[in-house]
Amino acid sequence: MQFCSTRDIRHIVSYEEAIFRGLAPDGGLYHPVKHPDLQELFASLNPGMDFTAIAGKLITALFPDYFDKDKAKEIAEKAFPFSPELVHLDNKLYLLELFHGPSCAFKDFGASFLATCMEEFLKQEHRKAVILTATSGDTGSAVAQAFYKKENIDVVILYPSGRVSPLQEKQLTTLGANIHALEVKGSFDDCQRMVKEAFMDTELRSTFNLTSANSINLGRLIPQSFYYVYAYAQLKDTDKAPVFCVPSGNFGNLTAGVYASIWGMPTSGFIAATNANDVVPQYLAGGEYKPRPSLHTLSNAMDVGNPSNFERLKALFGSREKMAEHITGCSISDKETLETISRYHKKKQTFLDPHTAVGVLASERYMQKNPAHNIISLSTAHPGKFLEVVKQATGEFPPLPDRLKEALNKQKQATLIDNSLDSLSDFLRKKIK
Ligand SMILES: *Cc1c(COP(=O)(O)O)cnc(C)c1O
Repeated sequence: MQFCSTRDIRHIVSYEEAIFRGLAPDGGLYHPVKHPDLQELFASLNPGMDFTAIAGKLITALFPDYFDKDKAKEIAEKAFPFSPELVHLDNKLYLLELFHGPSCAFKDFGASFLATCMEEFLKQEHRKAVILTATSGDTGSAVAQAFYKKENIDVVILYPSGRVSPLQEKQLTTLGANIHALEVKGSFDDCQRMVKEAFMDTELRSTFNLTSANSINLGRLIPQSFYYVYAYAQLKDTDKAPVFCVPSGNFGNLTAGVYASIWGMPTSGFIAATNANDVVPQYLAGGEYKPRPSLHTLSNAMDVGNPSNFERLKALFGSREKMAEHITGCSISDKETLETISRYHKKKQTFLDPHTAVGVLASERYMQKNPAHNIISLSTAHPGKFLEVVKQATGEFPPLPDRLKEALNKQKQATLIDNSLDSLSDFLRKKIK
């Protein structure tokens, strides 16, 4: 498989180049030049297969130049010591739980696969790299966990002092080893600016082989398709191909599912579920595509006013009509999100996190109009990550998973620095060999 920029089909790179570059030089995103036909692979799957077996098959089918069958199996087992779980929720509605990884959110799948691939390529070439990333809280922890103790890689994470939640800070700062947390005296915007300036400093960039691992990276996008295939295999013997409902912000998760269907995985379509940040549902319903500043909501990991992966979806489908044949939009308010969490708590004694709740209500709405289909709604985070919102909806705190509890009891290790490129490069020169 080869990849090109969404903005220039002539700019073609390998998978390895795409993951170390992150963004194409023209500012576009990498996507497949040509999508493979994997219909035979999908036909060979059965409901009993475990996740790593399916991931291994896909890895070697997608990247035969890099990973033969045995190597693909090894990569899958290394990257995914955790698995998605498909659970029945109600009637024809299933939840695909994606929060059983180390940071308790679906981003663990993408981050962990990217980290495993980078480690593999760097080891082969006896090279080192430094992952440099800024976080406003949530996304940094999946990256930190994924790269923890990976060989030949250091991770430097900048976060704004006093502006991330206590649990998020613990998740970022208690790992140690090759994970370096920098507590910046400034805002998230300062952190992002410092990272940008470091990448623009060619001397610094080449000395440390600076690389990013943000969510637009192709190495995070592609593996997100694997769990759609896993869920498909689980329900394979039921009558109709399922509809997937995806709580969306930057639309990376949804794009990965759409890719799997383009490769030949049978589906009956996708639901793009958003909170009040509904530029894509508006577009799909016939409006203009109008990016705008994001609104703050209870499902804050989806507070995105200009979704980066829209560019990949647009490049894939070409027109709105084509996109709307595959994807139905649905926007859910904060009030409806709370009501949904509360309703499932009463009815099923279960806790939904606010992002998952957006998807569940969107699935119910769809089901009222299309009762024939099974719907697989993606559960993107553990409810214990959003204690306050769940408490507000149900009156109870959901249980905190052990891996989050453990972080709370560990000692914070962070270096406090000024909000300037000088202090960042000082740190790199002193602490990274
Ligand atoms: C990141 C995130 C989302 C949105 O995923 P995208 O790929 O950006 O659409 C949804 N839910 C949770 C919990 C997230 O962390």
